[in-house]
Order: sequence, then C-alpha cells, then structure tokens
Amino acid sequence: MIIDGKKEAAALRNKIKKDIDLIKKNNKKVPGLAVILIGDHLPSQIYVKNKIKNSKEVGMHSEIFKYPNNVSEKEILNKIKELNSDDNISGILVQLPLPAQINKEKIINTIDPSKDVDGFHPLNVGNIASGNQSIVPCTPLGCLMLIKSVEKNLNGKHAVIIGRSNLNGKPMAQLLIKENCTVTIAHSKTKNLQQECLRADILVVAVGKAELIKKNWVKKNTIIIDVGINKVGNKLVGDVNFEELKEVAKAITPVPGGVGPMTIACLLQNTLKCFKARLI
Ligand code: NAP
Repeated sequence: MIIDGKKEAAALRNKIKKDIDLIKKNNKKVPGLAVILIGDHLPSQIYVKNKIKNSKEVGMHSEIFKYPNNVSEKEILNKIKELNSDDNISGILVQLPLPAQINKEKIINTIDPSKDVDGFHPLNVGNIASGNQSIVPCTPLGCLMLIKSVEKNLNGKHAVIIGRSNLNGKPMAQLLIKENCTVTIAHSKTKNLQQECLRADILVVAVGKAELIKKNWVKKNTIIIDVGINKVGNKLVGDVNFEELKEVAKAITPVPGGVGPMTIACLLQNTLKCFKARLI
C-alpha cells in the first residue's frame, strides 16, 4: 500500500476549512498565520509560498514578512515581539534555516509559546516530553497521522526512528512513546543500522541521505515513513529506496507526495489550535 500524503493532507485541510467557515459565522476574527522569511534560500521561498497559499485556501488570515539576508537579529526579534502582541495573529513561524548572524535559539525562545505553531519553543518541547497537551512540530505530527491512517492501534509496536534532530526524530519518538510503541532512535553513530531497521514494525527515516534504506534492510509488513527530501539530478527522492521497498512494506510514503503535504496541513491545524486556545 502506498500512503497518499496528498490525499490525507487534502482531507485534513478540508476539515480545517469547515471549522474556519463555522468560526467565520460566529466570530469577527479568523485564525491568522504570520511567516517571517529571511534571505533568498530557494527551498525556503517555495515552502513559505506553499504555506501562505494553503493558509489562504482554508480561509485563514496570513501575512508574510520578508527580510534581506543581512537583516539584523534585533530587527527580527522586534518583529516577533510585535507579532506576539498582535491579536490578529494566532501563529508565528520563522522559516529555517537562518543566516549566520541570527541566533536560532534566541529567535525560537522569543516567540510566544502559545503562538509557536512550529512547536520548537522549549516550553512546548518540554510539554511533549512530559506527555502533556502541547503544540507538536508539524512534520512528526503529520507522520503520526500517516501511520495511523494505516494502523489505528500502535500498542506494543516496535518503532525505529532514524535521525535524532529536534525538528523530526526526537519529537517523533515522544509521539510514538505516547502511542505505546517501543521506540529505538538511531543516528549517524549507530553501530548496525541495518540490524536496527530489521526490528522495525514502524520505520520513520529522517536523515537527508538519498535512498539510504534498501530492500534487505526492512522486514515484511513494516510501515515506512520517509521524511527525507534529497535532490538527485533533477529528481526529488527520499531517504528510502521507494521502488525496492514498496514491494516489501505493509505501507510506504512516496517522496514527493508523502510527508511534505502533511507537514503543511499540520501547520494549519496548529494555527487553528492556537487560535481556539485564545478563545477560551
Ligand atoms: P538533520 O537535523 O540534519 O538530522 C539528520 C539526522 O540524521 C541526524 O540525527 C544524524 O545523526 C542522522 N544521520 C545522518 N547520517 C546518518 C546515517 N548515515 N545513518 C544514520 N543516521 C544518520 O535533519 P532534519 O532536519 O531532521 O531533516 C532530515 C531530512 O528530512 C532532510 O532530508 C530534510 O530535508 C527532510 N525534511 C522533510 C520535511 C518534510 O516535510 N517532508 C520536513 C523537515 C525535514 P547525528 O545526530 O549523529 O548527526
């Protein structure tokens, strides 16, 4: 089975749109997303364009603030503070990566945690780790939804996650622990990666190395979620050899058209969640 991320994302966006249509009937305000984009990094520009387009399609208010590569850290911090106290904005996102003169931690820590739609603020990270209600980073949240579109009950499954970034691997592990999986996290220093992969009922790969995972690395009936995006020539490929593994896996996400669309849909869901939390 190939997991259709585009279809799952469209269904989630549709649900969000219905919710926003209802909100519009009863409220003056709608959820608002602010995106800060620094520099001319091409993939970032494409991601931001898609995020803004999708947010408008579901009926959100969205604003984009563009800065040149040499913008000062102070100017960005001031903009974040302004957005923190703007009642029309429910979610703030600063597109990564940032230029060298800007300290990522400072930027993340300045975003009001209740508007932190990326789920990177230490308060939200701590809440996820404690198993509390939290804003969850969009990509692992989307991955979990894709896994659950195949199998609802993950009790006792062995999940192997490759990659331990704050963005993907670590929050993914927390989410799967909460689903009662037994979780292994592998990384670049893991001794026998193939052996670890062979233990997986669920394999999430977030590395950034083209087609690292091959056919004889995965047992039959594994659910494979490929987070990686790698450019090989003119083609985008994942961290998993899709052609080889689609024959073996119980279910697998393609690249493109798997995790990517869900990431954006989950950003919209997080923005809506932040908006609703402010209404209470
Ligand atoms: P990252 O911060 O660079 O982390 C990569 C992780 O992979 C690290 O933990 C690293 O180990 C591990 N690793 C590197 N080489 C390895 C190897 N040979 N064997 C095992 N582990 C290895 O990357 P990231 O931000 O998590 O992103 C990972 C990939 O996902 C990238 O391709 C990125 O473009 C993609 N991505 C996709 C989406 C989406 O929406 N689809 C969203 C975000 C990111 P160490 O910790 O030991 O260095």
